[in-house]
This record gives sequence, structure tokens and C-alpha cells, in this order.
Amino acid sequence: MENCIFCKIIAGEIPSQRVYEDSEVVIFKDIEPIARVHLLCVPREHFAHLSELNASREALLGRTLKKIADLAPSLGLEDGYRLIINQGENAGQTVHHLHIHILGGETLGWQ
Ligand code: 5GP
Ligand code: ZN
Repeated sequence: MENCIFCKIIAGEIPSQRVYEDSEVVIFKDIEPIARVHLLCVPREHFAHLSELNASREALLGRTLKKIADLAPSLGLEDGYRLIINQGENAGQTVHHLHIHILGGETLGWQ
């Protein structure tokens, strides 16, 4: 997808601090962390919103959540973490390539 910053990061055209990657997802550090650990888990496939889910993307998302749970201890998230998927304007979504924020590494406040 042209002009998508996360597609460019996935393609390696924009540098990022990757902590994990496989054939389906890339996980890298958020450039403006709001918690001691703040990662972004991004499917390699470009789609913007949960409203665009289809059967294969549903399955991808399910595998991705399991992957995050399995990886959590190795990412400094052994004491718990929070996942956030911002959707649309009211949620403040700024990058329109679906991504899961992974927050942790400390006790998180609520809002
Ligand atoms: P959203 O608000 O769309 O849910 O989250 C987008 C996130 O992407 C923000 O937390 C922002 O800091 C992060 N971000 C935006 N541009 C870049 C970038 O070039 N590199 C990295 N690593 N993170 C970025
Ligand atoms: Zn994209």
C-alpha cells in the first residue's frame, strides 16, 4: 500500500526497532512510547480496520493474539500487559494499517 508508514516499516524502507517477525506479523517498538514497554504488532497484510475482517483475517488475528501471549515473557511482559486496537477518529487512530498496541513493563493506569 503506497504511503502507508507501517507498510514501509515492514518493507524495511523506514527503520524500526524490531523485536519479533515472522511470515505474518512484525512487532517493533513504538516511536513515542507511553509505557516502559510499548510495542506495535502489525500484520504484514495491509488493511486498516476491523470492519474489513474476512475469514482469513479473522484467523490471522486469532493466531496473532496467541503469538503475543506466547511471546509475552520474552518481551518483558511477564507481569501482564494491555492490548489496544484504535479504530477510527474517536479512538485517535493515526495510522490506517491495523495494529495492536502492546503496553506493559510497569503498572498501567487506566486512561
Ligand atoms: P494509532 O494512534 O494509529 O493507534 O497508533 C499509531 C502509533 O504508531 C503511535 O503510537 C505512533 O507513536 C506510532 N508510530 C507512528 N509513526 C511511527 C514510526 O515511524 N515508527 C514507529 N516505530 N512508530 C510509529
Ligand atoms: Zn500498510
